[in-house]
Amino acid sequence: MNPYLTHLFVLVATALIANGASHIHQYATIDSLLAGGYDSDFPCSRLVRPGHYGIGTFHQLDGEMLLLNGELFQIKADGSITRPKPDSITTPFATVMDFDALDMIPIKQPKTLEALEATIENAFLSLNHLYGIHIKGTFSRVVTRSVPPQEEPYKPLVEVVRNQQVRFEKETVTGEIFGFWVPEYLEGVNVPGFHLHLISDDRSFGGHLLDLVMESGTVSWEPAMAFTLHFPDPESDFATINLLEEREAELREVELGAPAQ
Ligand SMILES: [Zn+2]
Repeated sequence: MNPYLTHLFVLVATALIANGASHIHQYATIDSLLAGGYDSDFPCSRLVRPGHYGIGTFHQLDGEMLLLNGELFQIKADGSITRPKPDSITTPFATVMDFDALDMIPIKQPKTLEALEATIENAFLSLNHLYGIHIKGTFSRVVTRSVPPQEEPYKPLVEVVRNQQVRFEKETVTGEIFGFWVPEYLEGVNVPGFHLHLISDDRSFGGHLLDLVMESGTVSWEPAMAFTLHFPDPESDFATINLLEEREAELREVELGAPAQ
């Protein structure tokens, strides 16, 4: 090849990688969490970088994780929100992405969560890719939840959510949401469909998103072009958890939150 063309090709390829090739990193699997795999020696600092966004939980299931542009938040079951040092806290399940919005749409009319998710899904070019989703705006109603830290012997996640989840409801929230949309074929690895976590702009309210009405704001997303799964140590509990069990019904209950009792 003509050296000039070779050089041009390298430049174009580099530009494509710099702009378009967002990479998702995940630690462990959703089914290992559903089965009670709450212990971890994997420091969050292995996933936290400037430009990285993500969600997950912490060692012993101590609250909901939200990572926004390299800033790590821990939303605890008592409603408090802390900023743990990424090298001093570990995660048994987390998914993060070097997110750089590819598309953005304004939301100008009130939308329920169902309508908002349908709008986003309809805009995807492919339903065979994974997407990072970033939402900023004002919400007239938000329902979130968190879970308290667990003690051994660990109960399956569906039982923790059913008996111990704490729901938070608020009217009029200005805030930010990040999460993922994952295709059905990755069931067992991650959460098929939408999985979103929210934090208010004043950092006083947040959690795993159960419901909302969005008044206005923006929604942006980006498909991932690579997906890396980081595995727990072969000597950890992950090695002996049964990952062949069908957990779809459990996952649905965990994601949507147990009915209020
Ligand atoms: Zn969650």
